[in-house]
Amino acid sequence: MADASGTGVKSGADTERRCNSCSGSGEVGTEMGPVDCPDCGGTGVLPHPSVLVEWRIRDIERARSAGADAAASDIRWLIAELRRARTALTEIASLAADAGDSDIARRLRVVSGQALELFEVVPVGSER
Ligand SMILES: [Zn+2]
Repeated sequence: MADASGTGVKSGADTERRCNSCSGSGEVGTEMGPVDCPDCGGTGVLPHPSVLVEWRIRDIERARSAGADAAASDIRWLIAELRRARTALTEIASLAADAGDSDIARRLRVVSGQALELFEVVPVGSER
């Protein structure tokens, strides 16, 4: 699909995202031999970007937010705000999908879709 801006939009669902950490093999070498790649879980393909964001949030939460100090408290607050904002953005994207074909509805779909990485924007002529 192309528009006047010279870009096309592709659905993120059918775009394969090969894992660069393991070059798509699903395994990485360690001192104890090959193990499942931690970035793709051994599949060789990265999950949807929203899943990667949630994995990263959980990693940060596990590593940094358990303490009783001010920094841990700040991180817990920031993670809660991030999740609240992403949930609202997902709902906005869903509402915009049902909002018809007005200019505002189209812009809402593009802005929310790009923020949530729901689709990939590629220059016209370079579609795979
Ligand atoms: Zn991998």
